[in-house]
Amino acid sequence: VAALQHASVLADDDGWIRWVGPAADAPTVSDGERVDCRGRAVIPGLVDAHTHLVWGGHRRDELELRLRGADYEAIFAAGGGILASVRATRAASDDELHAATRRRLERMRACGTTTCEIKSGYGLDLETELRQLRIVRRLEREDGFQCVATCLAAHAVPAELRDVPQGADRWVAQICEEILPAVVAQDLARWCDVFCDRGAFDPAQSRKILEHARRLGLGVRLHANELGPTGGARLAADLGAASADHLLAIDAEDRAALAAAGVCATLLPGTSLVLGKPWADGRALVDAGVPVVVASDCNPGSCGLESLALVLALACYGNRLTPAEALCAATHNAAASLRLDHLVGRIEPGLRADLVVLDTDDWRDLVAHAGSPLASLVIQGGRIVARGTTHDAAG
Ligand SMILES: [Zn+2]
Repeated sequence: VAALQHASVLADDDGWIRWVGPAADAPTVSDGERVDCRGRAVIPGLVDAHTHLVWGGHRRDELELRLRGADYEAIFAAGGGILASVRATRAASDDELHAATRRRLERMRACGTTTCEIKSGYGLDLETELRQLRIVRRLEREDGFQCVATCLAAHAVPAELRDVPQGADRWVAQICEEILPAVVAQDLARWCDVFCDRGAFDPAQSRKILEHARRLGLGVRLHANELGPTGGARLAADLGAASADHLLAIDAEDRAALAAAGVCATLLPGTSLVLGKPWADGRALVDAGVPVVVASDCNPGSCGLESLALVLALACYGNRLTPAEALCAATHNAAASLRLDHLVGRIEPGLRADLVVLDTDDWRDLVAHAGSPLASLVIQGGRIVARGTTHDAAG
């Protein structure tokens, strides 16, 4: 992270950064809006590279059960967890799903997130998976959010197939033969993800889906080694996936394989916090030369945190990243893992003018004062899209 002092940023009318440098050298412009940031640090808009933002219903009761000691995997095995959200999402109308997701995105943006990856995976049937992904498109088109859609039909085996012989394999076949081709034909996603873990999909099933997705032109990423050492990280390295996410249960050989293959490691410390799980060893990943990303994992069950600014701080306290590594992980590295680093993630000419003006002169206060409302102005594509309580009207 390179910090400039007394700097100015100039954006054009189309929302692209044209010039960055010392304020004293700034080109003079006759018109346009000026934002006075004196005494305030400015960081790139945050890039949240892992969310499950489109869902119906809620799981607040389950949260209480877990806080009283119930186990996440046991709740899932009993038909709750992801499967409860699938029932509620299938039952929700498009407008209900759209409105709920929009409110979530607005709150995330108020905390500094300007680009957001969103996965499907609460449909687990063709129609609902496509409906979830269409809502992401609608949020981009009608509401102006910057989103990236990922098909995660391989989030779980649907309830209808759980007690059927070879149910999981039948679902894998349906994803490959029916769901992914429809997603691609309708241009509804850029990425395919698989929950490769205990109780979900094994490495062989995950490989089948991801290789098929790649043949169809989708990029691949996966949930790996969250619940156990189940081979997901090694599969990510084998496939040259863009990212392997979670990574609580990995060893030095896994880290070396990820580094050699150039796979990003996406840490989701909010989920460790909420589920009371161990923290992924971010320090060891950085030391092994793996590009590290930090994302919220915002979802209805295992982590509802919407503020990537807060999660960035958790990556310091839990995953043992430095503040600079955590900021880079939630901006440039996150953008790179989504193959968007030519557009967002840095304050640099040619990139989108996505900026967060902080109510402090030192961005490290995002870590020191984690959870405080420090985003005083959020600028997306050169437009102010959120204004914090601390930025006065004149600012
Ligand atoms: Zn996830």
